[in-house]
Formats: sequence, C-alpha cells, structure tokens
Amino acid sequence: MRRTFDDALRWSEAGTKLLLDATAGWGEEQYTAPSALPDWSRKHLVAHVAADADALSNLVHWAATGEETPMYSSPQQRNADIAAGATEPAAELAGWLRESTERLAFGMAGLNTEQWRAEVVTAQGRTVPATEIPWLRSREVCVHAVDLAAGVAFADLPLGFLAALADDVVTMRSSALGPAVVLTTTDTDDRWALPGEGAIAPVVGPLAEVTAYLVGRPHTLTKTDGSPAPALPAWL
Ligand code: ZN
Repeated sequence: MRRTFDDALRWSEAGTKLLLDATAGWGEEQYTAPSALPDWSRKHLVAHVAADADALSNLVHWAATGEETPMYSSPQQRNADIAAGATEPAAELAGWLRESTERLAFGMAGLNTEQWRAEVVTAQGRTVPATEIPWLRSREVCVHAVDLAAGVAFADLPLGFLAALADDVVTMRSSALGPAVVLTTTDTDDRWALPGEGAIAPVVGPLAEVTAYLVGRPHTLTKTDGSPAPALPAWL
C-alpha cells in the first residue's frame, strides 16, 4: 500500500474543499438538477455525502470511547435517510453538508495516537483501524465531487489519491469476473492488471482516465489499437 495516513487526511480535506466550493451558493435549481449518478439528483448525492460524514463520526466516537457505534443502523435506514434528505430544501442540505463535515473534522482532530489505532467496523463489515477513516472519507468526497456534474473532473483530484484509489479498486475487482485488462498510465509510472477472461486488452491513458474507468465512471480510454476499452462489470 502506497498511501499514508497523512496522505489520506490531506486528500480528505482537498475533496471536502472541492465539494463545498462546487456547491457554494447553490439554490433549489442547482440542487434539484441531476447528478452524474443514475436516478440521483444532486440533492440525493449531497444527502448521501452528509450522511456518510455523520456515519464516519460514529466510527470516530467508537474509536474515542470504545462504545460500539456502527456507521448506519441498517442498509434500509441508510437508503431511507438519503431519500428523505433528497426532499429537504436546498438550504437545509447545504447546512447538513457543512455541519456534518465540520463535526467529522473536529472529531478526527480530537483522536490521540492510541484512539486512532482502535478497531472499528465499516458499513461493508470490514474491521479496520480508525486510521482508515480519512481514506474512507477521501474516496467519498473526491469521487462524489466529480459525480456532482458541476465541473469537477477526475483530473482535478490529487494524483496520489487517483493512484491509491486505482490500487483499491483493482484489488476489489480481482475477485470479480470480467475481461482481462492491463492498464498503463501515460503520465505516471503506474500499471495495473485486471485478471479475467479472454485475450488481455492493453489499455493506455492518463491516470485520471484510468481511475475513472476503474470506478465505473465516464472516461475516454481506448485500447492501444484505438478501439474502445472493454466494459467492466459493476463492482460495488
Ligand atoms: Zn458514496
């Protein structure tokens, strides 16, 4: 693993700033416009990101006190909260996003070395040290800043973040059935292999496009012969 705890803290702050800057001053019209995610308005997306900050604050509380406080009470509750959030007025959502973000940052700033080492459980059921919380948050704020469809692109995200995210997704995709692909970046020295079926497809492009492709977002990648990069199966 190439990323460090300090990297993740920095990326989490950078992604948060992108999100807050992108949504600054938005009224009903901007908030009710579609996001880049299927069936989700920007209201759904912002509710999801704010709920994630609250959920991660639960993990911070767990690490700080030892009291088991899961991210969400259940997947159903998680979805219901997003649906309810999407019906809130724009000003309410903007306030929730700002306050949940501040609460999480404040909570993380209060953890000592021993508390950061405490084990917590993610929404996917993985047991991880609390030091993973900034990375979990980085992924949410950085990728969803792009999903807002408000002018932020993968190329605006830190290169180190893009590489760390690609590392993560390649690990997760390695157990899923898909086409065999070897990805080589043109602007960094990165190379990833996705094991899979059929002849290996060689795909080349900038790191930002490679990462967008891996996480299932719109991209411009082609194979080395100029034909489209093979479609990847869903991964989450
Ligand atoms: Zn998310």
